[in-house]
Formats: sequence, structure tokens, C-alpha cells
Amino acid sequence: MISDNLREVKQEIQDSCALASRSSTEVTLVGVTKSVDTAQTIELANQGVKHLAENRADQFLAKKEEMSHFTDLSWHFIGNLQRRKVKSIINEVDYFHALDSLKLASEIQKRAKTTVCCFIEVNVSGEISKQGIADANLEDFVEQLAPFDKIKVIGLMTLAPLQSTQEEQHELFAKLKSLQEMIQEKGLDYAPCTQTSMGMSNDFSIAIQEGATFIRVGTSLFKN
Ligand SMILES: *Cc1c(COP(=O)(O)O)cnc(C)c1O
Repeated sequence: MISDNLREVKQEIQDSCALASRSSTEVTLVGVTKSVDTAQTIELANQGVKHLAENRADQFLAKKEEMSHFTDLSWHFIGNLQRRKVKSIINEVDYFHALDSLKLASEIQKRAKTTVCCFIEVNVSGEISKQGIADANLEDFVEQLAPFDKIKVIGLMTLAPLQSTQEEQHELFAKLKSLQEMIQEKGLDYAPCTQTSMGMSNDFSIAIQEGATFIRVGTSLFKN
């Protein structure tokens, strides 16, 4: 049941915050609904999860449309966004979690009617298969975004590799947090970079302990 799952997830958020002496109000639960239908997505929203995330443009648009009677939802786009899909969704997105190239930034700049809140996806683990900006290139990438007035870098996002150990997860998330603070300290208007989007069902507790402000949770909310 979604309600039971949600209660467990919220408890784990609280426990993890307590471990790190953080307030649970600092952590936003983003419900990842990519693998469930609209009915289950609506149920999650009715249970009070107001931040929802999808990773495919067509499903994102369909669900948002079917749920337009909700007036208090925030819509997140996570995962890879093909450039040819930018036009159709960028003006529907409240938070975009996967800014990872200048080409994509240019396309967003061209298509967005207002400023888009973006997370830069960082490949902290250095995994070859991974999307994201290599951490060594992050500062340059942020500098290159200066001319794009439709892009506001509100934070950084990462994914831990599937097979990583808890120790590695701590290390990766701590690294993302320190990169986020390094960019934040630059005091750039277009890149306040106050947020970190990190942690999924299997590792959000560790991400919270390392300073996550947005966690992206799917499986744990929708398991049977
Ligand atoms: C699917 C997905 C999630 C959620 O993962 P779960 O393990 O189901 O919690 C989070 N972030 C991204 C980018 C995803 O693609």
C-alpha cells in the first residue's frame, strides 16, 4: 500500500535527518512515478507528496495533463532529455535535474519562455557509462552557462552506481555536497546552487546524512 510505504519512507527520512542533526524540513521528497500509472500517481499526490518526477517526455506530459486538477504540484524531469524533446516539455517543467551539456543548455535557452530551475548532473563516480559533467569540468561548465538567462542553476544532481558499497555512497554524496558548496560560494546570480538532488530508494538515507536537499524515490513508494 502506498500509504504504508510512504509512512516508512518518511520515517527513514526523519531517522536519517536525526543521525545528521538536520531538520527534516530541509529534505524534499520527490516521488518518482516513472514506473506507475496515473491512478497510482494520483494516489501518491493525494497522500501529500506534491513533488513528482518523470523521466520520459511523453509520459510526463500525459500525466501532467491528466492531473491538471491538482493546483499544488511541482513537476520534476529527471534523467536524460533528448534535445528534440526540449521544445515540448521545458515550459511544463518546474525542476530539471539533468543538465549535462552546453548543447542542451542552448536548446533550453532557445525554447524556454521563462527561467528554468536546473540541477547540473555531475558524474561524481567517474563511471564511464554515466551521464553527467565530470567533476573536474564542473567549474568551467558553470562559467559557460553565464550567458544563458533562461537557466538558473539551483543545485547539483548525481546518481550513485548501482553496485556501490555504502562507504562509496557516503564518499560520492559528500563529494557532490562539497562541489555544490564550492559553486555556491562563487555567489553567481545565475547559479545560486544551494541544493543537492541525490539519493534514491536504496541510498537516500546515506544521501540525507551527506546533505541531500532533494531525494528522488520511486521503488520504495510503490513496492507491494
Ligand atoms: C528511477 C530513478 C530514480 C528512482 O529510483 P528508485 O530506485 O526507484 O527509487 C531516481 N532518480 C533517477 C534519475 C531515476 O531514473
